[in-house]
Order: sequence, then C-alpha cells, then structure tokens
Amino acid sequence: MLRNDQLDQWDHDHFFHPSTHLAQFARGELKNRIVTGGEGVYIHDREGNRLLDAFAGLYCVNIGYGRQEVAEAIAAQAKELAYYHSYVGHGTEASVTLAKMVIDRAPENMSRVYFGLSGSDANETNVKLIWYYNNILGRPEKKKIISRWRGYHGSGLMTGSLTGLDLFHKKFDLPLSQVLHTEAPYYFRRDDLSMSEADFVAHCANELEAMIEREGADTIAAFIGEPVLGTGGIVPPPAGYWAAIQTVLKKHDILLVADEVVTGFGRLGTMMGSTHYGIEPDIITIAKGLTSAYAPLSGSIISDKVWKVLEQGTDEYGAIGHGWTYSAHPIGAAAGVANLKLIDSLGLVTNAGETGAYLNARMRDALADHRNVGDVRGEGMLCAVELVEDKDNRVFFDPAAKIGPSIAAALLKRGVIARAMPQGDILGFAPPLCLSREEADTIIAATSDAVKEVC
Ligand code: PLP
Repeated sequence: MLRNDQLDQWDHDHFFHPSTHLAQFARGELKNRIVTGGEGVYIHDREGNRLLDAFAGLYCVNIGYGRQEVAEAIAAQAKELAYYHSYVGHGTEASVTLAKMVIDRAPENMSRVYFGLSGSDANETNVKLIWYYNNILGRPEKKKIISRWRGYHGSGLMTGSLTGLDLFHKKFDLPLSQVLHTEAPYYFRRDDLSMSEADFVAHCANELEAMIEREGADTIAAFIGEPVLGTGGIVPPPAGYWAAIQTVLKKHDILLVADEVVTGFGRLGTMMGSTHYGIEPDIITIAKGLTSAYAPLSGSIISDKVWKVLEQGTDEYGAIGHGWTYSAHPIGAAAGVANLKLIDSLGLVTNAGETGAYLNARMRDALADHRNVGDVRGEGMLCAVELVEDKDNRVFFDPAAKIGPSIAAALLKRGVIARAMPQGDILGFAPPLCLSREEADTIIAATSDAVKEVC
C-alpha cells in the first residue's frame, strides 16, 4: 500500500481530475478524497470515514456498492474471455444476452441496441445515426438537433454542445452550430408567475414549435431530452409536458431521443423513464444504470423505424462506418447481465418508487417551511432541494454565494454525501435504488441539520 503522503503527491502532480477546479486543486484549496471501499449505500475513504452516498457516485451505482454477484460475473468473464470485438458480426454470449435483456425492458417499438462505453459516446452515436438516417432518406438538410437549456447529454464535442449548461461550453468553442436550445420545463423558475402549470406546458410547446418554424422543419432532425432534467437541477417535468412536446415533434417529422442515462433501469420507479411519462422515443440513450457502474458500458436503443433505414443504408453504401474497439466489451456486458438480474431479484425498481416517494415526501415535510428552501422536488429516487435567498420575494442566491457547496460540506460532516449541483443553489440526492427507509431518514435528518447550520 502506498503511504498517504506519496499518494497525495502523485495525485497533485499527475492526476487530471475531470470536472474539477484545477487551480484550486493545485493550490490545495480543494482536498482530494481517496475512496477505498463500499458496501450497500456506504463508501469508505482512506481516512476511515464511512459515508452514506446519497448520490450513488454520479447517480450510477444503482444496486449499491460491494455486490459480489456482479464482481464474480466480471471475474468469470475476464478469466474466460476478457475481450473480443463486435465488428463484422462478432460478439459474445454476454453481449447478445444483454442486448436481449435490454430490449425486453424497453418500450415496445425498440428492437436493437448499439453498445458503447459512456453516456457521452452513446449520444454521439445517436447524432451520427440520425444524420445517416436523414441522408439515406434523401433529406440532407434535416440535421439540426434541438436540446434544452439545463439539459445534460455529455461532454464530447457534439454532446457537450447538446448539454445546455454554460460551464460545459465556456472557452471550449461550443456549442457547435448544428445545435439549438429551447426552454427547460422548469416551472419553479418560470418568468411569468401568473402561468398555471398547464399554461407553462403550452408555453414550452409553443416555444419549441416557434423555433422549428423559424428554422424550417426540413432543417431539424431530432429533439433530445432527459425524462427528468438531471444535472440541470433535478427537475421533473410538469404534467402533460412530454405529451405536448411529442405532438409538436410528430407534426414536424422530428425524431425524439430520450436520454435515459440517469432514468434508465429503475430510478423513477419504473424500468424506463420513457414508460413513466408515456414518452415514445425513436432512440433511447442508456448508460449508468445498465451496469450500475461496475464496468463502463452504455447503449443506444434503436426503434424499428430507424433500424430499417440504417439497414437499407448499408445495402446502398456498405458496412456502417461507426464503431468503437470496446463496443459491447464482454466484461461490461457480463456486468450488465448480472446487474439487470440483480435489479429484478432484489425488486429495486419497486423500491426506487416506494422508498423514493418516502424520501421525497419526508424531505418536503422536513424542509419546505424553512425560509431559505424554495422548492423540494423529485421523482422516484431523485430529489432536489433548491435554496433561495428570499422566498417571499423570489430572490435567488447568487451562484458565487456557493450556498449549495456549503450545505453539501455541512452534510459531509454529518456523514452524508449529497451533490451540490452545478447551479450553486441546488442540492441533489440520487441514492442507490436499494436505499432503506432508515437510510432515507438519516439523509433527511442530516440535510435538515445542515440547512439550519448554514442558512
Ligand atoms: N446523459 C445524461 C442524462 C447524463 O446524466 C450523463 C452523465 O451524467 C451523460 C449523458 C453522459 O454520460 P457519461 O458521463 O457517461 O459520458
């Protein structure tokens, strides 16, 4: 084992941490945390802390830490066959089995899965396939992709562009010109307070339609959205939002991509978020929950409608020119199969719905009356607490006040990890789907204390 001072030195000198304030880290203002183990909803660090991870890593360790069944499936696959590619008709039992298991859990019109490694590369794949699709259909102008402000779809060139958060654009020369952003369904922060939820839904759909008409429907290929906005602040849509959006998209022959990287495989209390909201996507992005992050794996679930055109394209132009060396990596696939079996056998989808509803209701009871808590919202095992400076006069905190990070730090002192969302004034909770009511109570009590300490 490395000495702690050695580890710190190497970390400081050589390790490039993603999504990190590099200068603060270099100056030692941001302390590292070396995580050493975990079981259930807890992780351990080298200082000997046992912390309740109320964000499941990056909302991905859905089955919880330390599941031996998955570890053993990974080890068995590595021993038998660590790698073979999936190009030109190749595959493994694990990758084919996982494809079948995913399709069995997807909405009815879905028939194929393209496996990648991360949510970002899956969304890159989606955009390429959508462009290919429209080229094959003889519509070379129909290429722009509409995403939403506050949406999060990854941090590649195209996916960072689709992401509707400034932080991911600033100084990276993004977004790319083929991307447009429309309004987020964020009722709490609507400009016009006189709007009812129904009015606001109509307003979002109208804004979308106005954008399509302005640009020309023949230039718009697809709309991408998360069933519940995640990194944009954990914002469930108002009732009727998805139905209204889909009506507009269908009218203008625009494909719908449901980005289910967070919501896929149980987080909302249904197997897929699309089913939860009656969304009928043409493509679904999956990642995190597919393996519960025991190995990197993502996927693009493709509808029959899109698949038929892709097939036709290869008859005209030859093998599809898209693939990663690690597409459908057998170790990731073995992890996925074991993970999905465990989600079923432990009843985690049901638990996410029931314990998630408990977490949300109790969090609301504990905090809603606090003068600095503007909103407590969530769906399934997703919950957000939004802090405001003055509730009665709708004065929001300046992000520079770092109220979210301060409360997250106060929570950490109490042994609970929550995520200070990038907006600066929202605390996010997305625990493993195996969370118990007692563990939910621990999160709520710690949050209530932490908010009172800071505000
Ligand atoms: N899409 C959504 C909805 C996400 O939340 C994320 C990551 O948080 C991604 C895509 C990108 O996934 P990855 O970080 O695996 O590239």
